[in-house]
Amino acid sequence: MSKNVVILGGGTGGTMVANHIARTMRDEIKRGEITLTQITETENHIYQPSFLFVSINHARVEDYTRKQKSILSSGVNLVVDTATKVDPSSNSIALASGKTISYDFLVISTGAYPDFNSVPGLAETADNFYTPEGAEKLRDKLINFEGGKIVITIDVPHKCPVAPLELIFMLDDLYREKGIRDKVDLMYTYPIGRLHSLEPVANWAAPEFEARGINSEVFFNVESIDPKKKVINTLEGSEVPFDILVSIPAHKGAQVIRDSGLGDEGGFIPTNRHSLKAEGYNNVYVLGDATNLPISKAGSTAHYEADVVAENLIAELRGLSPSHMYDGKVFCFVEAGLGKATYVSFSYSQPPAPTPATEMIHWFKLAFNEMYWLSAKGVL
Ligand SMILES: Cc1cc2nc3c(=O)[nH]c(=O)nc-3n(C[C@H](O)[C@H](O)[C@H](O)COP(=O)(O)OP(=O)(O)OC[C@H]3O[C@@H](n4cnc5c(N)ncnc54)[C@H](O)[C@@H]3O)c2cc1C
Repeated sequence: MSKNVVILGGGTGGTMVANHIARTMRDEIKRGEITLTQITETENHIYQPSFLFVSINHARVEDYTRKQKSILSSGVNLVVDTATKVDPSSNSIALASGKTISYDFLVISTGAYPDFNSVPGLAETADNFYTPEGAEKLRDKLINFEGGKIVITIDVPHKCPVAPLELIFMLDDLYREKGIRDKVDLMYTYPIGRLHSLEPVANWAAPEFEARGINSEVFFNVESIDPKKKVINTLEGSEVPFDILVSIPAHKGAQVIRDSGLGDEGGFIPTNRHSLKAEGYNNVYVLGDATNLPISKAGSTAHYEADVVAENLIAELRGLSPSHMYDGKVFCFVEAGLGKATYVSFSYSQPPAPTPATEMIHWFKLAFNEMYWLSAKGVL
């Protein structure tokens, strides 16, 4: 009898797992022994790191959007629908269309989403570059800005922990190029007592800020925003005025995970840090931003995890024991402005150690933006 593998989520992690299994189990799929189905909400797949470049007018969302069907291997059945409930007790998923899909094995890669209602005043006042619409709206403001104060606020957890740092460096570049840097006050804030949760990254960023005249305030936790006065009030008692406010609010797990009671208080699924199985469910794997693992929510994390999930699932489908273990590996390029970038590479046991930024690493980052689709297809 055919075994049903269902992958919920058609973003980075879900697509990489689907293509990896489809490629390796091509013959079993052809013989009808395995059925591979991916459920995802939208027909389009958007490369989210492009939003950073969209917001400073270096890219368009449409340049980084592909039809999901076009990046899936032929052995994967694509279902474009919204999952409304996952029920591990009956191994089934209810869909908004009214259909129910059963599975023998489930892979969840449903992502993480900024909660724009997490702070009073934020939704109506703040700009963001974490959604396609947000990045386009922010771009229009940033390119027409003629001077004043731009403040970046950050709450945790959020995906791509280095993206706010990258944005502030890119804004420094943008206004230098426009010749109005002396008229723009750039202020970066962070909720704990340093510039980034990863201490080596914070230590790398501090002198860069000083060299570029980027202001910062740490222990900065937004309590509310006054949309009329354009002032941020913090839990620590600061009152900071702004002309443009760019906020990265705390993220939550996907609605379906929260509605299914599968997540913790933030909607992130308790996940075994090595096997990537959902705690308590032997036939459910979780990867990417949907896990509760204490590591960066990043596409590269999903990529490394996808190999572990796919290989273990293939072993189980072939009657073998799953033996691959995720070691917490993450790799992120970090745009540093002035045409340079650095990178961080770390794992559960090895801390990051950013090296001085170079032009070469900047070009690697831009090249990867173009090669992402090959990576999602499993070619790279
Ligand atoms: C501005 C920005 C810059 C970034 N830069 C980088 C970077 O430089 N490097 C890096 O490694 N990462 C970066 N990231 C992070 C990276 O994009 C994510 O970490 C990555 O996409 C996570 O993959 P995922 O599969 O977990 O989730 P996603 O790729 O977000 O996919 C989630 C999928 O689940 C689907 N889904 C959710 N709910 C349902 C439902 N109910 N029914 C059906 N489908 C559903 C969604 O439609 C989506 O297809 C960046 C992110 C942003 C926003």
